[in-house]
Amino acid sequence: MAVLFVFDRNILGALKDRDDRRVTFIHRSLVELDQRLRELGSRLVVRVGDPVEVVPAVALEARAEAVVAAKDFEGYAKRRDAAVARELELVGKSLLTVKDHVVFEGSEISTGEGEPFRVFTPYSKAWRRRFGPGDVAVQEWRPGALVPAADLPGDNPWSLRDLGFRESELWTAAGEEAGRLALRGFATSRMAAYATNRDFPDLNATSGLSVHLRFGTVSVREAVRTALKVGGPSAEKWLDELIWREFYSMILDRFPHVEHTTFRQEYQAVDWPGTPEHFEAWCEGRTGYPIVDAAMRCLVQTGWMHNRLRMVAASFLVKDLLLDYRWGEAFFARHLLDFDLASNNGGWQWAASTGVDALPTFRIFNPVLQSRKFDPDGAFIRKWCPEVAHLDSNAIHAPWEHGGPLPIVDHATQRQHALNLLQVGTGSMNA
Ligand SMILES: Cc1cc2nc3c(=O)[nH]c(=O)nc-3n(C[C@H](O)[C@H](O)[C@H](O)COP(=O)(O)OP(=O)(O)OC[C@H]3O[C@@H](n4cnc5c(N)ncnc54)[C@H](O)[C@@H]3O)c2cc1C
Repeated sequence: MAVLFVFDRNILGALKDRDDRRVTFIHRSLVELDQRLRELGSRLVVRVGDPVEVVPAVALEARAEAVVAAKDFEGYAKRRDAAVARELELVGKSLLTVKDHVVFEGSEISTGEGEPFRVFTPYSKAWRRRFGPGDVAVQEWRPGALVPAADLPGDNPWSLRDLGFRESELWTAAGEEAGRLALRGFATSRMAAYATNRDFPDLNATSGLSVHLRFGTVSVREAVRTALKVGGPSAEKWLDELIWREFYSMILDRFPHVEHTTFRQEYQAVDWPGTPEHFEAWCEGRTGYPIVDAAMRCLVQTGWMHNRLRMVAASFLVKDLLLDYRWGEAFFARHLLDFDLASNNGGWQWAASTGVDALPTFRIFNPVLQSRKFDPDGAFIRKWCPEVAHLDSNAIHAPWEHGGPLPIVDHATQRQHALNLLQVGTGSMNA
């Protein structure tokens, strides 16, 4: 067996930032993987280019019988992998894609009629009914089957500079060993209080594992095994979040149109009237709502945003600034270290009320109430918004009520506009 990694020029070429954090994370993880393979007498083969050309070429050079890759459910990846399979076939080889990214994929969890679920709770019940320990069993592998380093095809130069990128700062360590430590640390110190503390951005109460799950440096099966081993209501809650991830992955796979447009057709025609100036203020953390501004500054400076704040910031963009959720989705996609098309799209469509799992009531977050509830002392705000850090824990959530500058929009007014826009005038929920 030979292990190949292709830096896909089509993906790298589309990145806007030369210090994109994802490239640094992947690069560091590959350096570690290469090191481990070298300890076993082999090494990683790294190529840079279009996988449709590179994979068959390396398969020929390595005299491989077949190529095995993890299944990927994003539109581009599906088209790419189909093209790779066709090219491999032309040279007499086959592509075998295997499930790795999720415990259950695509149609494995369906309704009794074989239809995909569109609401999370019945999906998660069906997921749990179908689940057995065998679904997350440890896979055996035999390092003896690795091709010795000397017999492997050559590499392309693959330092970050060779790839045209610069090293960036990461809020978490990259690689499999770091992922394992992060999972263990969470399981032994924070998982038991997860259900109670998970919504408070200042408490560091969540696992921080999304980036490892995204890039495969922690296996979702190991994460599930850990949750089952710890047990109890908090671990169950955490397992629920892993199932959300599978739910959105299934949605992207079975409803690929969500990548470009609203899941629910009735919202495709909404003409969002928000302005580019407001979008810029949101991106730069200058809305005047301290919780939103703190969240956005944290995202841009670190590549991380807590889940509660992702919901608040997303709701604010759509329901207060009346901007198309796709603008915010693209901004998150550019900055999040853990960016995952399925979860990001699912989160944004959830916040915009255009997606799956629609509530009978219409969801509009009040940023001030959210701030008071989930950052009660303003500790998170103080970290990111020095201009309001001197305010006491009552004033900090709405400085304009205490003589401070007015925010760029008035929540009560915009909320009404949002309700009109989505034409859901009744039954609204003020969270
Ligand atoms: C607008 C918006 C955009 C988002 N974009 C992304 C994204 O690009 N990538 C991403 O991984 N998650 C995304 N999420 C989901 C969630 O915010 C992150 O997974 C979570 O904050 C990561 O922190 P954690 O690893 O500490 O999570 P934990 O609370 O420890 O949860 C464990 C794991 O469960 C999964 N998970 C948790 N919550 C969700 C959720 N709501 N949807 C799907 N999976 C979930 C993640 O893999 C996470 O690592 C988004 C949510 C919203 C509202």
